[in-house]
Amino acid sequence: MGTIYAVANQKGGVGKTTTAVNVAACIAEAGYTTLLIDGDPQANATVGVGISRTHGPGLYEVLTGEVAAGEAVRTCSVQELRVIPAGAGLAGANVELPRLEGFEYRLRDCVEPLRGSYEYIIIDCPPSLGPLTVCALAAADRVIVPVQTEYFALEGLAGLLETLALVQRELNPRLTVAGMLLTMHDGRTRLGQDVEREVRAHFPELVFDTVIPRNVRVGEAPSYGLPVTHHDPHSAGAEAYFELAKEVAARG
Ligand code: ADP
Ligand code: MG
Repeated sequence: MGTIYAVANQKGGVGKTTTAVNVAACIAEAGYTTLLIDGDPQANATVGVGISRTHGPGLYEVLTGEVAAGEAVRTCSVQELRVIPAGAGLAGANVELPRLEGFEYRLRDCVEPLRGSYEYIIIDCPPSLGPLTVCALAAADRVIVPVQTEYFALEGLAGLLETLALVQRELNPRLTVAGMLLTMHDGRTRLGQDVEREVRAHFPELVFDTVIPRNVRVGEAPSYGLPVTHHDPHSAGAEAYFELAKEVAARG
């Protein structure tokens, strides 16, 4: 039975998609059957693994019941990885979903049958706590929370943890935090060091040991439709994501 991870933080640009794509690619390459689900209408994860934004059915068609989840699964630029892309209509889902009775469980009910086929299922969430994120959290066993190492890093984290606790209470008692991940870190600056220390002090048990450095290779990889671990496997960014994937797998 596979484990379902959601990669979530209501802030945009903190490294959610980069983390979802790279962890999924590393775990798949390590030999685990892995499915990446793009839950963000911006479709950055879809494009980041070399799939066109508009081609064929995606998560939108799965959520509306047009196709079964298994029928929306595709191959991508990473040979071992399978993907359910966002699908062209996913932006509309934020409006349409809440009108449906029990919408919170739609994604869970669609994805649950795939647990038998994949050891890891990783869902990339949009930068909000809207309906699609709620659906992803209701479906997930664990949440990975990327945190950009910048001045306002801690702001919003307390709120996010409250939301996670609420989802756990009301929708999904299984949900736990896999870890917070410091991203785009610049260890040479005083600010980078201070923020890392502060986040670790606030959440001593929760922060992954692995820290993702700011690295140009990470930023340019999506334009090639590749995870950085494939674009430049020897870059500092790729090495950090390889380490993170091991830590995620080791935490179970
Ligand atoms: P989110 O999904 O949270 O909005 P992204 O993963 O899309 O965030 O990252 C935001 C931007 O920062 C993207 O352009 C991405 O390529 C870039 N980026 C992410 N992580 C790094 C990193 N470690 N080093 C450099 N650029 C990064
Ligand atoms: Mg994103």
